[in-house]
Amino acid sequence: MTFSRVLVAGGAGFIGSAFARTAAGDGAEVTVLDKLTYAGNPANLAGVPHTFVRGDICDAALLAAVVPGHDLVVNFAAESHVDRSIADAGEFARTNVLGAQRLLQACLDARTPRVVHVSTDEVYGSIETGSWDEGAPLAPRSPYAASKAGGDLMARAYAVTHGLPVCVTRCGNNYGPRQYPEKVVPLFVTRLLSGGKVPLYGDGGNVRDWIHVDDHCAAVRLVAEAGEPGEVYHVAGTAELTNRELTGRLLAACGAGWDRVEFVADRKGHDRRYSLDDTRLRSLGFAPKIDFETGLAETVRWYAAHPGWWS
Ligand code: NAD
Repeated sequence: MTFSRVLVAGGAGFIGSAFARTAAGDGAEVTVLDKLTYAGNPANLAGVPHTFVRGDICDAALLAAVVPGHDLVVNFAAESHVDRSIADAGEFARTNVLGAQRLLQACLDARTPRVVHVSTDEVYGSIETGSWDEGAPLAPRSPYAASKAGGDLMARAYAVTHGLPVCVTRCGNNYGPRQYPEKVVPLFVTRLLSGGKVPLYGDGGNVRDWIHVDDHCAAVRLVAEAGEPGEVYHVAGTAELTNRELTGRLLAACGAGWDRVEFVADRKGHDRRYSLDDTRLRSLGFAPKIDFETGLAETVRWYAAHPGWWS
């Protein structure tokens, strides 16, 4: 890593903690700033040398104290679960839009030389066939996706208006250790491991593109090091699967049968398919390293070996 002092906002969450682990492993001095919502867990940072600051990315005074002195700021802090945004979108607008803006402003004030704002394929809406490139119009369909699109556009505006050296990454669905068990992979694995049933939305035909969290973090790191300021980079997955296919793989990995699956009413406004064209990121030399079979088997083993983390 070419950065020596790295601030990871949202670094106690699933992906942020993986990124903090890599950055510290590369010898960077790591600061984690995290509000510790239900999704943030200090245990995710076990064994990672870091300075921890508990706080909110909406708190401008705190940011003015914490941000200066870092040569890379990466923003993973977000409300991240679509179902929660359907129940109540307020915190999503607050953290994902206002918080993103406050952090960008703090980076501008501190003249941070490099900023990466981490986003999602969900900002484009849903696509039946083909893939989006980075110029595709943003057409979010859930309150979560709309709030992420707001944060992305704020990053773009800070790059264009103020020349802030910020890149935006948009990634597909992540899987791996330490993901809060409300998302499909850890939810299904932990329920199957503890003898329960798993809920499959609608006809199970919704398609997602899966990437291991460590590959996503490697992509974020490459964009920080070699990305063009102001640009957006797609991080595509390695396995495009319907939720039914994913469920089949998880059942097999946990030694369970289809009798453990309950088909439930579909999520409101459920996006059918996401698909990213990652040509731009690949032109920087990126290729994901973890194949889905291996990564999923290792992920299931991690949850099986850490019941104390999830139960
Ligand atoms: P997560 O929910 O596991 O972690 C989010 C972290 O942000 C938590 O530690 C939480 O405490 C913290 N946080 C929330 N609000 C905060 C605030 N106001 N101030 C400071 N910290 C706050 O999420 P994740 O899955 O690790 O996702 C990280 C980022 O990656 C998000 O921006 C998400 O939109 C994006 N992303 C996730 C995926 C995925 O599959 N999980 C895919 C693409 C993009």
